[in-house]
Amino acid sequence: MIAAIRGTQDILPGTIERWQFVEATACRVFEQYGYAEIRTPIIEREELFAKGTGETTDIVQKEMYAFTDKDGERIALRPEATPSLVRAFVEHSLEQAMAVPKIYTLGPMFRRERPQKGRYRQFHQLDVEVFGVKDPSVDGEVIDLAWTLIRELGITGVELAVNSVGCPVCRPSFAAALVAALGEDVQTLCGDCQRRAVANPLRIFDCKVPADQRVIDALPHTIDYLCDECRTHFEAVRRYLDVFGIPYTLSHRLVRGLDYYTRTTFEVLAGQIGAQNAVLGGGRYDGLVKQLGGPDRVGIGFAAGVERLVLALPDTLALPEKRPAVFIAAIGEPAREAALTLLRDLRRAGVNAQVEYEGRSLKSQMKRADRLKAPLVFILGEDELARGEVSVRRMATSSQESVPLSGAVEFVKTSQ
Ligand code: AMP
Repeated sequence: MIAAIRGTQDILPGTIERWQFVEATACRVFEQYGYAEIRTPIIEREELFAKGTGETTDIVQKEMYAFTDKDGERIALRPEATPSLVRAFVEHSLEQAMAVPKIYTLGPMFRRERPQKGRYRQFHQLDVEVFGVKDPSVDGEVIDLAWTLIRELGITGVELAVNSVGCPVCRPSFAAALVAALGEDVQTLCGDCQRRAVANPLRIFDCKVPADQRVIDALPHTIDYLCDECRTHFEAVRRYLDVFGIPYTLSHRLVRGLDYYTRTTFEVLAGQIGAQNAVLGGGRYDGLVKQLGGPDRVGIGFAAGVERLVLALPDTLALPEKRPAVFIAAIGEPAREAALTLLRDLRRAGVNAQVEYEGRSLKSQMKRADRLKAPLVFILGEDELARGEVSVRRMATSSQESVPLSGAVEFVKTSQ
């Protein structure tokens, strides 16, 4: 047998219903907030993520699946959606095409991480982005959207963390303060942190090595180094959250693992799903559109992990069971033809109806109906056919009655 690749999973009946619920709920909520769906390719030029996600990020340096195509071009499987959505925004001038460029997408992403519960190499994200709005009220809207999504999914026990990582004006002084505060201690940190201290000191906050945490916890906080504009912006965002009644904590370590964030960053953590507890994360990326060759437009968005949302759904979530409304059992060839015609009519009328394909004994057909949990079984034999009727068995009570064949579709529809 050829098994699925490590870190990938098949989503099977029994679980897929929860995925469908998450995806349908997300699409409904996003559309209600005025976001329009777009879909972009899974493969992109590698440089889109090198430039977009950032050369110094773990995603690009260690986790991205990239290869040289037959024509020599470097291709990557997308590790996240934002750079692709920015590319599409610029490439199709969505600013002109859409009244407000508010877009969302959903689909698989790929990162070569160490697989564990809630962390996969192929995983799925729901992603929303807004372009061109500087006003902090849009930060409020995007966080409110994330919060509404969590609420509509019935997920409880979550915590919203927010922070501001400043902008290109104030970040250099913060990076310098970090390096100064680290001083000699940098030599005690892991190899990754030593490299980060030189290439991109903010990334040190991404470190998960337990021995490094004492030093990292004592480092300065971004919000103490914000320029006036960033501070005013962040104060307004916090005010909106208060006005919207969204509880949050301030998390100074929340710099997020990507290079493009400016100002607002946020994350939703779900307590009960294990070590990989970030269900959703996002923030503002005011320089990214320009950096990727587009006009000077700001942006903000978030990505939620579908696997983790599914894990965080309440156990009590009752999704409607999928089962046929009626099963048709036929005895003998003429009855079988009538049964298949009735099956077609039921399906055209929008009813979930099933039959036994192999046309076996009535007993085995009834067994199949039972396994499918059909509440009604139509039985069609020679006698029924001669009378122009079907016998109806209600499986819950084993009671039986007759209805005219011509009224059979209506009968199922009114019994549903
Ligand atoms: P990021 O794009 O890293 O900001 O991640 C956004 C969200 O995607 C996270 O909060 C997770 O819910 C989800 N996510 C990221 N990486 C993975 C992964 N390897 N496996 C499953 N979910 C992931």
